[in-house]
Amino acid sequence: MAKFQNPITPPDYAFGWCNGDVARGSGDEMPIFYPATGQQVGTLIEDGPRDVDRAVSAAAKAFKTSGWPELSVEKRATILESCEKIILENIDELARLECLATGLVMTQIKAFHLPRAAYNFRFFAHYISQASGQRYDNTEGYMSTAKREPAGVAALIAPWNAPLALATMKIAAALAFGNCAVLKPSEQTPYSLVKLVSLLNTILPDGVLNLVNGRGSVTGAHLVGHPNVDRISFTGGTITGRDVMAAAGRQLTPCTMELGGKSANIIFASADFDRALDSALLSIFSTNGQQCLAGSRILVEETIFDEFVDAFLQRMSRIKVGDPLAKDTEVGPIASKIHMERILSFVGHANKDGDKVIGGGQRREALGDGYFIDPTAVAAKSNASTVCQSEIFGPFASFLKFKTEEEAISIANDTEFGLVSYIWSDHLPTVMNVSERMRSGVVWVNTPLTRELRAPFGGYKNSGVGREGGHSCEEFYTEEKTVTIPKAPLDIFKFGKMR
Ligand code: NDP
Repeated sequence: MAKFQNPITPPDYAFGWCNGDVARGSGDEMPIFYPATGQQVGTLIEDGPRDVDRAVSAAAKAFKTSGWPELSVEKRATILESCEKIILENIDELARLECLATGLVMTQIKAFHLPRAAYNFRFFAHYISQASGQRYDNTEGYMSTAKREPAGVAALIAPWNAPLALATMKIAAALAFGNCAVLKPSEQTPYSLVKLVSLLNTILPDGVLNLVNGRGSVTGAHLVGHPNVDRISFTGGTITGRDVMAAAGRQLTPCTMELGGKSANIIFASADFDRALDSALLSIFSTNGQQCLAGSRILVEETIFDEFVDAFLQRMSRIKVGDPLAKDTEVGPIASKIHMERILSFVGHANKDGDKVIGGGQRREALGDGYFIDPTAVAAKSNASTVCQSEIFGPFASFLKFKTEEEAISIANDTEFGLVSYIWSDHLPTVMNVSERMRSGVVWVNTPLTRELRAPFGGYKNSGVGREGGHSCEEFYTEEKTVTIPKAPLDIFKFGKMR
């Protein structure tokens, strides 16, 4: 029995989008569920290999004939700003569709995810208006210019945890640098991105932005292995990332991989206690705990460990878990039944490893058939525990104690991942030393989840390959061309004219 109302009545079927129009796929039907009720709310029609070929061909044709790659930066920037505008005009419907398939909390979607989705387009509109090529003209006799040109067709693969915020970074960047694209959402969460692509297609030339739906193993695999794809931008899990990169390698297709994380949130006794506490809760429980950036290993200095953990648990016990549409909800349901069961299985791992479950650890049966779990915290026996080494990707925090700066650094870096690190301290030498030595792509000092779009974002080690962000995206989505021209007729070797 459903306990909560659906945020919106979606179309019965989620279809793909090709060459400026809806494109019904030829593959299987698969159910789409609302995580808050566990009930089916619609059906996705999978795009099979032929449908993927059609979408890639549409993008390749648009790249050759639509004029998009050749468009002046002024005109392209204006179009990108219209994309921002149309997202903001449709914020309520997009937010409801996002909520329907993901179970993300409405207040968070509207406050963070959708403003970011819209801003991604404005950011790249501004970026391309500033970017310019290089000129090398002080060499004797000739000059060279290097310019960047659109790469071609970009395959954009998005995960289910924050589809709009994550996919728009890829779409806006690919289009800003003159590419055409084929987007594949996760088969669990197609609605908001199908709607987004339909809105953007009222602005963009036909074929510039296409969308294929379906399972990663079918639709995704065919797309990333396609010989006419020139770039692959993937966000998802590390294991899938390896498969995608192997497929890209066979075609020599450049790719970026934004993968998983197991980030350390290091809290020193010299930190502002209350802000560090706010941050610790935010970084593990926002987005229903399902975010690559989560501060999921909370390392606390021994002298404040008990006080900090007590305060954390008190706040955690008051977190409002429930209806994603309710204004006071802080944590909604887990995105799928299978993922909920996986998260809860880590309670068993914790018990087996000798960790102590200090809060939560159960399904919230009282909330009905939806995939709700209690926010959970574990005091880990050591960093070797499964809960400290595996990406759980849910509202599940693991606490570890440290005595010295050296020990904190060593624990923080002792992981296969290296996406972000958080450091909380008001002691400058500590901040300088620890931030220098973190093996992660991003270090946040006394601030959580602050994404600077101009700066590179991505992971060390198994957290990724390549970076997203202003200049990083420019490099990735373009080919660089050098043109060399003599300033005057050159006196060069004259083969065959010597005698
Ligand atoms: P997956 O790796 O399972 O899937 C990611 C996307 O890839 C989905 O669209 C999926 O499709 C697709 N896919 C799966 N297999 C293939 C394949 N062989 N070829 C092409 N595409 C494929 O990740 P999740 O969706 O489970 O997302 C969670 C993961 O994403 C976490 O590990 C998280 O850390 C990571 N993530 C990383 C971020 C970052 O910026 N570093 C940001 C957000 C999440 P389908 O789902 O339809 O099978």
